[in-house]
Amino acid sequence: MGQTLTEKILDDHLVEGELETGEEIGIDIDQVLTQDTTGTLVWLQFEALGLDEVQTELAAQYCDHQTYQFDFKNSDDHRFLRSAAGTFGAHFSRPGNGICHQVHKERFAAPGKTMLGSDSHTPTPGGMGELAIGSGGLDVAVAMGGGQYYIEMPEVVNVRLEGELPDWATAKDVILHLLGELSVKGGVGKVLEYTGPGVENLSVPERTTITNMGTELGATTSIFPTDDHTQEFLDRLGRGDEHVEIGPDDDAEYDDVIEVDLSDLEPLIATPSMPDNVVPVREVAGEDVDQVIIGSCTNGAYEDILPGAKMLEGREVDKRTEMIVAPGSKQASELLAREGWTAEMMAAGVNFSEATCGACIGIGHVPASDSVSLRTFNRNFEGRSGIEDDSVYLCSPEVATASALAGEIVDPRDLADELGDLEDPGFEMADKYDGSTADLIAPDEAVDDGLVKGPNIGDVPLKDPLDAHLQGSALLKMDDNITTDHIIPATQDILMYRSNIPKLSEFTLSRVDDDFAQRALDADGGFLVAGENYGQGSSREHAALCPMYLGVEGVLAQSFARIHKANLFNFGLLPLEIDEDTYADIEQGDDIEIVDDVEEAVRSGQDEFTIRVNDDWEATGQLDASAREREILADGGKLPHTKAQQDDSSGAAPA
Ligand code: SF4
Repeated sequence: MGQTLTEKILDDHLVEGELETGEEIGIDIDQVLTQDTTGTLVWLQFEALGLDEVQTELAAQYCDHQTYQFDFKNSDDHRFLRSAAGTFGAHFSRPGNGICHQVHKERFAAPGKTMLGSDSHTPTPGGMGELAIGSGGLDVAVAMGGGQYYIEMPEVVNVRLEGELPDWATAKDVILHLLGELSVKGGVGKVLEYTGPGVENLSVPERTTITNMGTELGATTSIFPTDDHTQEFLDRLGRGDEHVEIGPDDDAEYDDVIEVDLSDLEPLIATPSMPDNVVPVREVAGEDVDQVIIGSCTNGAYEDILPGAKMLEGREVDKRTEMIVAPGSKQASELLAREGWTAEMMAAGVNFSEATCGACIGIGHVPASDSVSLRTFNRNFEGRSGIEDDSVYLCSPEVATASALAGEIVDPRDLADELGDLEDPGFEMADKYDGSTADLIAPDEAVDDGLVKGPNIGDVPLKDPLDAHLQGSALLKMDDNITTDHIIPATQDILMYRSNIPKLSEFTLSRVDDDFAQRALDADGGFLVAGENYGQGSSREHAALCPMYLGVEGVLAQSFARIHKANLFNFGLLPLEIDEDTYADIEQGDDIEIVDDVEEAVRSGQDEFTIRVNDDWEATGQLDASAREREILADGGKLPHTKAQQDDSSGAAPA
C-alpha cells in the first residue's frame, strides 16, 4: 500500500514506534521555532537541562508577541532571548522583524523537513510541504537538545480540493468553510493533507493561510504537496535550491476524505466569538464597523495586503471606520513601501502598525466598548482583543477592505456592483522577496557574551514526584472550551511577567474567577474541573506551569486540547477525563480524593481512577497516556524526568 505525504515525512524521521494510528511515535526534528512569550521558558529549561548547544539543523527565536517595550521587563526578556540564541546557537529575529510564522516561512521553512514550534500556529509552513507541529516549550527545548519528539500517530485525513476559487472568494474562505463544516474540534487527533486538482489553483501563500488556520480546527498539523508553485515561491525567496518535490503515493489510503469544490465557495465570515461560527458575509451585511485590521500570521503576508491596497487605490476608508494594516513581516512592509503601496494606503486613511502579533492578543488597537471589529486574524475568542465584551469577526482581506470602504459589513461582490468600478484584485506575488536581513542575527553573528538575565527573569519552578495520595477541593469549575487565554491571558500587563512565574501565577484564571489564585495558594493543593476541549488555543505552557506553581494537582475535564494535555504531563499535573454526568455532579468546593495509590497506578499503566467526592459518592476518571507520558507525570514533569534520565545515562541527549 502506498503512503500519504504525512507518512512519508514521518517515516523519514521515525526513531521509535510504528506508523499505526493511535500508537506513540518518536521522531527526529529538523527545525525548531520559538517566540518571545514562550521562548524565555524554552531557554531557561534548555539551560536547566544542562544543555549547551542547539543540536537541530536550525533553530530560530522570534520576538513578535510582545514587541512594545513599555518598561524594562519586555526589553530584558528580549535581551535575554538574544543572548540565549547567540549562546546556544539559534537565529535571532529582532522585535519588529515580523511574526514568527511569516518570517519562518520566508527565511527558513523547507519541504520535507520536520519542525517543532512553541506556538500553536507552527503548522503554517505545511503550505510549502514542511511537517510542522505546535507543542509546549519544554518539548521544543528537548528537541533542540537532540531529543526526539513524541506524539500519538494521528489519523491522516485527505482534504480533496476540486475546481478554482471564483471572484472574491479566497484561501481564507476555504479554511472558514472547513471550520463551519467541521467545528473547532473537527481536526483533533488528525493531520489534514490537501490533495486534488484544486491544489494547483492555489499559490503557496494561499496554501499557508489554510494550513495556518488548520490550528483552529484542532488539527495536529496540515500539509500540502509541493509542485511548481512551491519551486517558484522558493525561487522568488532566493532559496530555490531547497525545493524537493514531495507528495502522496497514487495508492495512498487515508483515514477519511473530505471533498471541497473551490468553485462553490463565496466570501465567508466567522461571527463573534468562535472561529467556527461561520456564515456567508451577506447574512451579516449592514452591521456598522468601527475597526478593520488586516494582518496576523494568517493574512499578514505581502500577498494578503496587496489586494486591499489595490481596492483602496483612489478611494477613502469610510469616516465611521478605523483601518489598520499590520504586516506579518518587515519584509512585507519593505516591499509594499518600495512599490509605493504604503503611501497609497495611507492616503486612503490606513494606519500602519509594526510587523507584530499586537492586536491579535490585545496588545494595541483594543476595540472600543460595544463596537464591531473586523479582522483577518485566525481567532476571535471572547476577550482576546483586550476587552471582555468584544465583538470580533474574522474574514478575508478583501471582505475587510470592502467593509472599511463601506463603513459596514459588506460582501465585496455587492460593493463592486454598487461602485461599478471595483474589481476583484486577484492574487499576485512579489517578483522577488529581497527584503533586508538586517533584523536577523545568525548564530555566528552573536553579539552577547553569555546569557544576560535582568531582574524580571527567574528560575523555572520544579514539582516533586507525584504523591501516592491526591486529595483536595474542586478549586474551580469551568465550562466547555476554556482556552489557554482564559488560564493565562496574553495581554501586555500580564504576559510581561512570563519569565517571573510567582508573579505571573497571580493572574491564573483571573478571567474566570478573580479570587482563584489566592484560593489555590491557600488550599495548597486541589483540582480544576472543566467541560469539553479544556486548554484549546495557544500553546503557552504557562497555562500548565502556573496552576502547578499554585499547587493544583490535576484537572478533571470531559476532554482536553492536544497541546495543553501534553503540557499538563510536562508539568506533572494529572489530566483525568470524566463523563458528562460526573462533570454535572461535581460542584466547586467539593472535596475530591483520588482513591488509588496514584503514583503506582500511573506508572503501572492503570487507565481508570476512582474519584471519591465529598466522601459520599464515586466516579471514574480515565487517564489516556502513553508509557512515556506516565513516567514523566509520575516523576513530577518532563524537566525532573529528563534530568533524572540524564543522570542515569551520564549526560546523554534528552529522550
Ligand atoms: Fe501572533 Fe496571533 Fe499568529 Fe499567535 S495567532 S502567532 S498571536 S498573529
